Amino acid sequence: MSIAKLFAQKNVVFSFEIFPPKRDSSIHTIWSTLEELRDLRPDFISVTYGAGGSGGRSVTAQIAGAIRQRYGIPPLAHLTCVNSTRQEVEESLRQLREEGVEDILALRGDLVPGVTPKTDFTYASDLVDFIRRQGGFSLSGACYPEGHTQAPDLDTDIQNLRRKVEAGAEHLISQLFFDNDSFYRFAEKARAAGISVPIEAGIMPVVNAKQILRMVSLCGASLPPKFTRMISRYEQNPAALRDAGIAYAIDQIVDLLAQGVEGIHLYTMNDPDVARRISQAVENLREG
Ligand code: FAD
Repeated sequence: MSIAKLFAQKNVVFSFEIFPPKRDSSIHTIWSTLEELRDLRPDFISVTYGAGGSGGRSVTAQIAGAIRQRYGIPPLAHLTCVNSTRQEVEESLRQLREEGVEDILALRGDLVPGVTPKTDFTYASDLVDFIRRQGGFSLSGACYPEGHTQAPDLDTDIQNLRRKVEAGAEHLISQLFFDNDSFYRFAEKARAAGISVPIEAGIMPVVNAKQILRMVSLCGASLPPKFTRMISRYEQNPAALRDAGIAYAIDQIVDLLAQGVEGIHLYTMNDPDVARRISQAVENLREG
C-alpha cells in the first residue's frame, strides 16, 4: 500500500525521518537505531538522500529496503534531482525497485554554491513527472509553511507547490517550523489554492544549541519568543535544553493533533531516545 493511502485509513499518520550514517561511520550503526525506532510503531520511516552519507548514492535505497525487509515498516526514500542526470535518476530508481521500495519523496535538492546544477531537472515537479511516467512508484513532495527560502513570497511558493501536486505528488511533508500558526496559515492557503493531498507537519525536536543555529540558517524558520526564551535560558545546560526541546516538540504536536492535522513527521536526527520520549508522550493521541 502506498504511503498516501495510509492517510485514508488512519486518523493520524505518525512517521519518522532518519539519515544515513555519516561518511566516517559504518552503515551498520543505523540498524541499532532502527531496531529502537521500530518498537515505537511508526506508520512509515523516511530516509534522506544526499552528500554526506556513507556508501554514496545507493545507501538510501539500501537502508530503505532494509526498513521494509528487516523491520516490516513501509519506507519512504528521499531522492533529489538537481545534481543528477536522467540516467543517474534511472539508476537510483532501478536500485529502489531492486530493494522493493515503492514510495519516493521527490526533491529538487539544495543548490550548492559554486556548483553548477545539471540541466535534466530544474524543479522537484520535473522529477515527480519523470518518475510518474516511469511507473511503479508513489510520490511525495516537500512543502514549506513559511515559504521556501528562494521563493519571492508564500503565495508564489504555494502556486509552485500546486504544480508539484498536479505533476503527481500524492502526499506532502512540511519543512520544520516552531510556530504552529505558520503551519495553520500555510495549510489554509494550500487548501484554498486547490491542494487537497494530505499534508504532514514536520517536527524537529531541538536538543542542542549548535543544531539550532545550523538549521535556522539553512531553512529560515522563524523563532517565536517562547522558543528563543527557552534557548537562552538553557543553552549552557545541555541536559536541560534537551528536556526543554523535547517538551516544546510535544507541545507543538499536541496542539497540531488537537487542530486535526493529518500527520506528524518527526525529524528524529537518528536519536531513538528523543523519538521514544516524544512518541510515548503522545501515544494515546495517535488514535484519538
Ligand atoms: P522545489 O519544489 O523544486 O522548489 C524549489 C524552489 O523552486 C521553490 O522556491 C519553489 O517555489 C520554486 N519552484 C518550484 N517549481 C517552480 C516552477 N515551476 N517555476 C518557478 N519556480 C518554481 N535535501 C536533500 O538534499 N536531501 C534530502 O533528503 C532532503 N529531504 C528533505 C525533506 C523535507 C521534508 C524537506 C522539506 C526538505 C528536504 N530537503 C532535502 C531539502 C530540499 O532539497 C530543499 O529545501 C530544496 O532547496 C528544495 O527542494 P524542493 O523539492 O522543495 O524543491
